[in-house]
Order: sequence, then structure tokens, then C-alpha cells
Amino acid sequence: MRIDIITLMPALLDGPFAHSIVKRAQERGLAEVHVHDLRNYGLGKHKQVDDTQFGGGAGMVMMIEPIERIINELKSKNEYDEVIFMTPDGEQFKQSIANNLSLKTNLILLCGHYKGIDERIRTQFITKEVSIGDYVLSGGELAAAVVTDAVIRLIPGVLNDETSALSDSFQDDLLAPPVYTRPAEYRGWTVPEVLLSGNFKAIDKWRQEQAESRTKSRRPDIWNKKDSSEG
Ligand code: SAM
Repeated sequence: MRIDIITLMPALLDGPFAHSIVKRAQERGLAEVHVHDLRNYGLGKHKQVDDTQFGGGAGMVMMIEPIERIINELKSKNEYDEVIFMTPDGEQFKQSIANNLSLKTNLILLCGHYKGIDERIRTQFITKEVSIGDYVLSGGELAAAVVTDAVIRLIPGVLNDETSALSDSFQDDLLAPPVYTRPAEYRGWTVPEVLLSGNFKAIDKWRQEQAESRTKSRRPDIWNKKDSSEG
């Protein structure tokens, strides 16, 4: 999979892809993340990328032309499954969207800044709009990093044990059960007996029950939806 991220603040993305699982995915040749500085596509000798908004009001707006230039350049080299704009009024990012995007080959993620981007970019070039939550960030970079991480870890071969992602929260509409490691007792705080029993059928049953009770109490919205779709 190849992910191209378009941003005015490439330095904000120096860290997230240089460590841990996303780094390993790139080293294994399973994913490529390319960060592009939109400023290089700016207009005139000042490389202008934004302007004041029509109608007046505070905040600059990112212009069409620099974004069109870079999107067209990328599209001339690769075929993209989606051109995604990170935006607070987009579809709320969820595990199901991450699962779906992890099956794609090439993605563009466009990060906004300032007041946002000229609406005509959204209508003419964007195929999907994604929000990472009901709050406003200063720019789309952190949101793009969230999406990139959540998607890349699902690509087969990225995690050392592929079944691990399947037992994470939100897969199967359940939160993950609690986990423990050594020592089995610390300051008198013990680990549930069943996990030490070696009885894998009993362990699976316990984990399932824990996942269900956690989902019911912490995320009744997910539990009730699951319940009605199964009923
Ligand atoms: N004026 C916009 C609004 O009220 O919807 C907010 C602009 S915000 C300051 C600048 C950029 O940050 C946005 O264009 C978007 O790319 C990104 N951004 C902010 N919050 C986000 C969120 N919750 N999810 C995804 N991207 C976000």
C-alpha cells in the first residue's frame, strides 16, 4: 500500500512514521508513506498557498491551484483508490473505515490548515472526507497520522502475529478484554486464575465474557447496535 500525504507542515509528520509498527511496515516493503510539502506547489515567487476568504471574515483559506497541481502530479504517476480530505465535518473515523481502507492500494490524504480549503477542491477532487472526532485541530496532520497508523497496522504481515489485530477493540463490535503479564502476583494484586490454568477453552470463554461485559458497560451504544443487528 502507498499513502501520499499532502501538507503545509511536513515537519509535523517527521515522528509518527519513523518508529514502531509503521516504520517496520515500510522496512518490510508492505507500506510506503510519502509526505509532500504543498508549499513546493505554491504560486509565484512567494509560493503562495492561501488567501483571504471571499465575503470577509477571519482566517485564511487554502487555494485551489496548488492543491490541484500536486493531486494531478500524483495521479499522473499512480492510480488512487481514494483522495481523502481530513476534516472535522467528515465521516467519523472508525475501525470499520480503517478495515476498508487497509484493502486499498493507493491513497491520498489531504491535510487542511487555517480556515480550511476552498470548497471547490472538495467538490472536484475529494472522494472521501474523514474526521477523527468532534473537536477542531489546528491542522489535518495529526488526523492523517491517526488514519495512516490505524490502516497500516491492518495490512497482512505488518503485525508479527496477524491474529492480534483481530482481537483488538472494535473488531466484532466488542471492546478488548483485560490483559495481564508477569508477575502473576504483585503487592498482593493477582491475575485471574483462569489465565494461569492452561485451559484454552476456558480462557477463550473468559475473554469473550469480559469483552462483552466491558462493551455493555463502557460502550452501550455499540452493544445495543450489535444486539439489535444480531437479534
Ligand atoms: N474551519 C474548519 C471547521 O470549522 O470545520 C476547521 C479548520 S481546522 C482549524 C484546519 C484543518 O485541520 C482542517 O481543514 C482539517 O484538515 C484539520 N482538522 C481539524 N480538526 C479535524 C478533525 N477533527 N478531524 C480531521 N481533520 C481535522
